[in-house]
Amino acid sequence: MPIPPKLTPEQRAAALESAKQARRTRSDIKEQVKTGQLKVLQVIELASTNEAIAKMRVSELLESIPGVGKVRVTTILNRLGISDTRRIQGLGVLQLQKLKREFAPQTGAIRPGKLFVLSGPGGVGKSTITKALADYPEFWVSISATTRSPRSGERDGVDYFYISEEEFSRRITGNEFLEWAEFAGNKYGTPANQVLEKLKAGFNVILEIEIDGARQVRKSSPEAQLIFIAPPSWEELVKRLEGRGTDSDERRAERLALAQEEMAAQSEFDYVVVNDQLDRVIAQLLSLAGNKAP
Ligand code: 5GP
Repeated sequence: MPIPPKLTPEQRAAALESAKQARRTRSDIKEQVKTGQLKVLQVIELASTNEAIAKMRVSELLESIPGVGKVRVTTILNRLGISDTRRIQGLGVLQLQKLKREFAPQTGAIRPGKLFVLSGPGGVGKSTITKALADYPEFWVSISATTRSPRSGERDGVDYFYISEEEFSRRITGNEFLEWAEFAGNKYGTPANQVLEKLKAGFNVILEIEIDGARQVRKSSPEAQLIFIAPPSWEELVKRLEGRGTDSDERRAERLALAQEEMAAQSEFDYVVVNDQLDRVIAQLLSLAGNKAP
């Protein structure tokens, strides 16, 4: 290791001052990214002529982007093959290219994501499939608003946004839903804003909704891919519905009648995927989205 040169007190003070300046510059830049005044691409550009900015860690820069947290940054860096301690000045040509592509302005440069609707009869296992898809960073699963009360273990903002009837009506009037429907006495709706934002940012968006909502999406977004999740057989669906247990005879009959109606709608969908084995279903959905199977 080379021995560091011995500094005079003046030189030491000057070095400390310059390091302090550099930290201040980096923190100003991050603040400007946070408030949306500067974009990632602009910071990378500035780094080519400013040493203090060039020394900023890529992870720090990305974490300053509004709405992007540590987990998302780790996912992006892993995908681009950039270590989380890498500084902007240490990026290789290819890494730099990939980073620029990732944050290129959304006009054309980022391919918008695809919209997928997953629908099917109650009891067919839609939510298990959706939960598995949520583990893939290319997918974003929409969180619906509902007037029903949370079931045990469900969390507001994670499973649903639980809102009042009044708030739901206000959002209908304000045109805030991409689609909405009434199901078993409760209202459910897909907040349009988030879906559109995520699509623009290149995510494949999944809506797990009932059939009437799927029909509305077909009308308003004809490019959406409608996927019907079907049971391996009618008998299997009946078994899964009855396995839910505690229903009265009347409620059971209602569920079966509804399931029959739902099954009849499958011809309206672009694809029918039989839920016989989770891995196979996920592989099929990934291939529909243009991703490779795991
Ligand atoms: P649960 O109350 O069991 O969570 O959901 C009941 C039904 O509502 C399920 O079929 C589910 O797919 C559907 N659903 C959930 N969110 C929405 C939504 O935003 N819009 C529509 N149309 N249906 C939804």
